[in-house]
Parts: sequence; C-alpha cells; structure tokens
Amino acid sequence: MTVRALVVGAGPAGLMAAERLAQSGCKVTIAEKMPSPGRKFLMAGKSGLNLTKVEATSLFYQSYREAEPWLRPMLAAFGPDDVQNWARNLGQEVFTGSTGRVFPKVMKASPLLRAWLTRLDGLGVDLRKRWQLITLEGTTAVFDTPDGLRRASADVLVLALGGASWARLGSDGAWREWLPGEALFQVANAGLSVDWSHHMRPFFGQPVKGVALSAGNLTSRGEFTVSSRGLEGGGIYSVSRGVREGAPLVLDLFPDMTEDEIATRLNRTRGKASLSNHLRKVLKLDGVRRALVQEWLRPMPAVNVLAKSLKSLNVPVSGLRPMDEAISTAGGVRRDQVNDGLMLLDRPGVFVAGEMLDWEAPTGGYLLTACFATGRWAGDHAVQFAARTV
Ligand SMILES: Cc1cc2nc3c(=O)[nH]c(=O)nc-3n(C[C@H](O)[C@H](O)[C@H](O)COP(=O)(O)OP(=O)(O)OC[C@H]3O[C@@H](n4cnc5c(N)ncnc54)[C@H](O)[C@@H]3O)c2cc1C
Repeated sequence: MTVRALVVGAGPAGLMAAERLAQSGCKVTIAEKMPSPGRKFLMAGKSGLNLTKVEATSLFYQSYREAEPWLRPMLAAFGPDDVQNWARNLGQEVFTGSTGRVFPKVMKASPLLRAWLTRLDGLGVDLRKRWQLITLEGTTAVFDTPDGLRRASADVLVLALGGASWARLGSDGAWREWLPGEALFQVANAGLSVDWSHHMRPFFGQPVKGVALSAGNLTSRGEFTVSSRGLEGGGIYSVSRGVREGAPLVLDLFPDMTEDEIATRLNRTRGKASLSNHLRKVLKLDGVRRALVQEWLRPMPAVNVLAKSLKSLNVPVSGLRPMDEAISTAGGVRRDQVNDGLMLLDRPGVFVAGEMLDWEAPTGGYLLTACFATGRWAGDHAVQFAARTV
C-alpha cells in the first residue's frame, strides 16, 4: 500500500523531508501557507547563500553548543560534504571561501530552489500553496485555504514551519498557538541596537573591517556595518548570543597587533597633530573606526592607556534588534518533546524538522545544514514509522 505523507512548510527543512519521503515511494503533498515556497531561503541567498561550512568535524559540531549531542547523528548522516554533493547534483556548482564557508557559485538561492522544485515535481510531489495549517486534530491537519477550510489526513506528517523571524516571509512562529509546550523563542543571530550621537550620522552604512569582537565566551573575527539603528553583519551576529545572555560586547580594533606595538606607535612624535590625525597617521585608523573611538572613548584616555582601550573597547549596546529582523530564532519544539526520530511523543506519526526545533547556531552555513539534516532525518524516520504501522 502506498504511504501518504503530508509535509507542512516549504522551507529547506520541509523540502528535504519531502524529497526523502518521495524518493522512498511515498505519495507526498507539501502544504505551504505563502503564495510561493522557500521565501526565507531565497532571502538567505540575497547576500550570498552560505550553504555549509568546511572545517574540522569537531569544530563544526561544537557550533551547535547544547544541541550538539542530539543533532550529531543527523549532521553525521547529512553533513557539509553531503550538502555540497546534493547541491552539485541539483546542477549547482559550489565554492569554498577563505573562511571555509561554502556558497553556490551563483551566490543566490533561486537557481538551486528552482532545480529542487523541478526534482520534487518529477518525483510526483504535489505542492499546495496558500494552505495555512491552523490546527492538528490527531494526525489530521486543518488548513485555511483560498477555498475555505480543508482537512487533510495522511499516514505520516512532517511539520517544518520554521522559527519566528521574518514573519513577512511566512516564518512567524504562529504555530505555537496550537502546538503547545515549546521552549520560548529567543532572538538569535541578530543585530544590536546602539544609541548614536549625531556625530556618527555620516558613517551610517559604512563597514568596519578586520576587527575582533567578543561577548562572554563567544568571539568573532570579521566585519560589521554601522547602521542608523546600531550594528549589523556577520561579525555581530556570531556574538549576539553572548549579548543576549548578558555579557558586555568588547571590540578589538587591532586584533593583529599587541598592546605594546600599538603603544609604541602612539608614542611617536605627535607634534601639533590632533589626536584623531595622530591615530590616522600612526595606526592607519580609517574614518569610521576613528569615529567609533571618539564616540565610545569619552573622555579620551591618556596615550599610555589608549593602547589598551583600542584593543578592548566597550561597546554600549542598548539591546538586541527585534526578533523579526533576526536571521534565526532559538527556542521552539523541545528535544524532550520528540523521540530520536524527531517524532512528537504525544502525536505518533507527526514529525518535526528545521528551525522550529529548539536549537541554535551561528551564521556560517550551520543553520541551513541543520535544517537540511533534520528535514532528511524526519523524512527518513517518517518512512520507517509508516513501514511499521501502515
Ligand atoms: C536575511 C537572512 C539571511 C540568511 N542567510 C543564511 C545563510 O547564508 N546560511 C544559513 O545557513 N542560514 C541563513 N539564514 C537562515 C535560514 O534561512 C533559516 O535558518 C532557514 O530558512 C530555516 O529553514 P526552515 O525550513 O526550518 O524554515 P523556513 O525557511 O522558515 O520555512 C518554513 C516554511 O513554513 C511555512 N509555514 C509557516 N507556518 C505555516 C503554517 N501554519 N502552514 C503552512 N505553512 C507554514 C513558511 O511560510 C515557510 O515557507 C538566513 C536568514 C535570513 C533571514
């Protein structure tokens, strides 16, 4: 007998679950509440779709922190190499950047998504758009559709409804109203709010490159952008969890120089030059970094303590940017609500995958890799469950 599978949510996790179910011979329907699939995935490709990360396996796993023990088997079954091969199989060449981040050569997500949807179509997967799941009655799903309420039952169900950021792309976390018991959502990989003085206005939109940031035990090397609302960009996102947990944010403007080297340069004859000009000349400090020093080091310390301050500038953060602007969210369906196969303990036959599960990771390809890996895992375990019960 053919197994009927229903996947809800057409993001990377849901599409991967659908692919595995269809490849195993199930008759698969995907229901997506938006008019088109994969909207957050497409947004992720706007600034370069970072699919995964090439680095030592132990380092890769560690990025998932407290979720590492339970995500590990899923990531071992579909890790960075598998993600790259899978993308190549869909006709998308990938390349690895200097930091180990892997991107499709075209950088964006749309060609990959198109090829993926064509593959799913070829496997007979039926994609229903504008179908919003509003509640579950056992394993029967109730949808709000353009034709009114529809009930759909299946032998197995995979929920991949995403986290709670970027509601306008469909990922609004509204599912927690009818799927209770989850861990509260928290902002992850977010920008930080800073109350700027008017002196900073000319620098809004400018990148600050080659710096190091730390918050608690999280550190990052890279860059960020000064925006009218605060600080944005990869370097900030990776330490935002530390700030969320209450640690101060510290900026090292010269990660490749020791304090002594900076002090030696600062002690060079200054003559009549202003301190700002002196910093520019002896330390090659560009305009935006000089502006940050003047913004955050008030009053300016004496030259003998300045070297230390430039390597550990306290950033006066007023908070994290709102959840809906965050790259991802922590929280969601807790590990103890599902079994090893990601099936809800209180709803046999209903599996959960992707960002709606309670794990978090920094940007750098870790998010998508875990969405693919959990989607695949949920799909495979749904097939095994159906084999035992249908
Ligand atoms: C600007 C930006 C850049 C990013 N860049 C990267 C990157 O480079 N690398 C990386 O690894 N990650 C990146 N991410 C994160 C990544 O996009 C997400 O982690 C990933 O899309 C989550 O996949 P998912 O399938 O779990 O959920 P989602 O992609 O959120 O998909 C969930 C789907 O479920 C649908 N849905 C929700 N509720 C219902 C319902 N009730 N009924 C029916 N359908 C429903 C939604 O419409 C959506 O289509 C980025 C995110 C953003 C916002």
